[in-house]
Amino acid sequence: MGNDLIQITSTADTPQEQVGAGLRPAPTGSCEKAVTFFIETFGCAMNVHDSEKVAGTLVARGYRAVDSHAEADLILYNTCSIREKAAGKVFSYLGTLKKAFRNNPKIIGVLGCVAQQEGEAIFERAPQVSLVCGSASYTRLPDLLEEIEHGNRRVMGLDLDTDECFETELTRRDNPFRAYLTIVEGCDQRCAFCVVPYTRGPERSRPSDKILDECRRLAGEGYGEIQLLGQIVNAWKDPSSARLTFAELLGRVAEIPGVRRVRFTTSHPRYFTPDIVEAIDSHPALCEQVHLPVQSGSSAVLARMLRGYTREQYLEKIDCIRRARRAISISTDIIVGFCGETQEDFEQTMSLLDAVQYDQVFSFKYSPRPNTAAGSIEDSVPEEVKAARLAALQERQRQIQIGTNQALVGQVFEVLAESFQPRLGQVVGRTSSNRIVNFPGTPGEVGQYLTVRATSAGPNSLVGEKL
Ligand code: SF4
Repeated sequence: MGNDLIQITSTADTPQEQVGAGLRPAPTGSCEKAVTFFIETFGCAMNVHDSEKVAGTLVARGYRAVDSHAEADLILYNTCSIREKAAGKVFSYLGTLKKAFRNNPKIIGVLGCVAQQEGEAIFERAPQVSLVCGSASYTRLPDLLEEIEHGNRRVMGLDLDTDECFETELTRRDNPFRAYLTIVEGCDQRCAFCVVPYTRGPERSRPSDKILDECRRLAGEGYGEIQLLGQIVNAWKDPSSARLTFAELLGRVAEIPGVRRVRFTTSHPRYFTPDIVEAIDSHPALCEQVHLPVQSGSSAVLARMLRGYTREQYLEKIDCIRRARRAISISTDIIVGFCGETQEDFEQTMSLLDAVQYDQVFSFKYSPRPNTAAGSIEDSVPEEVKAARLAALQERQRQIQIGTNQALVGQVFEVLAESFQPRLGQVVGRTSSNRIVNFPGTPGEVGQYLTVRATSAGPNSLVGEKL
């Protein structure tokens, strides 16, 4: 799974209204003031997309999104519990909210992984919370909201046995260029350190016909880039009679008129097959990018992590990607200081960095999580050792990225201009290989695909000029 933490907020333009005994959204078409909401999102792209779907569900019920906590009647935190720090942050935010709105109480909901993990205990620890709902229960949100609208102040949705995906036509997408689309929910892998199988439930795939219909609709709405999501996206199995493989699905999405770029995240090495590389080679719209989390370079640690592959098997997958005709960038996730990790194990992770020459690495210190297999064994690596290993790993990777990015100076890329920085007069663009390129431009270029030559490079981005 991907570990890159991001934080987004909902945006919109609406008036403010005091909440009474319950939330009462305005009927569609009425001139009553709408109840307002604000969603703050932590965690991975799956969470970001879930928030878009929750926002769409709320808007369809007559709620309106606003730009800040202060303007909102209903505040929702879509949470991540992949690391202790991320989960702790939620309770600290809830405490801050309580103080800030002591004289103007809000209806507060906790969604996502912390909701699923902590359940009813959230009401005890943060009594200001009214709604607790895990991601596998978002299909129940309309019913839960109705209960809140009727004044119920403790509402929960924590079912994990759903075989449904949270699909909605109502998704309210925040990015005007890139549409996220979940193709597989949950995870059956049960890596020893990971809470996801316990918070997102069992793996369940969407049928290919529904995915392709949605992609065609998104392309028709002008989304040139589609990012297919799944905790293990390449474990997707077509439940429809078409029985497409994951690689075939990628090809079909890439061939839809109007689709200019297709990305997919997160791949698991166990399910990463050569036909995925062949699909990238054959379809220019499939981006030259693979995110393949390794977690450790030591086979002994990988075995304890229950990852299901060895260092050697992982390197075979990397060789397969490196043999592609296109120059596919490779990124990964690494955990340092997992239970029992020796200095020798860590050195193997460092040597893996040298061997693979990753384009990007998301690295973290291990922290035990409740309900996981590793949570019940000793967290044996001292905190200061974890910190030192993380710093050493990040510095080694920084040096690698300086080298790989400098080798790109002089090359020409097609970039999607994603935003404009007025202070610098620069456009921020992204290549097919997921590299950021900054170059002089204008706000009007945002949204366009432009041809840019790299003129210099840092460890995390390129500087370029338009051709
Ligand atoms: S259990 Fe493993 S494969 Fe599944 S989401 Fe967690 S880290 Fe990814």
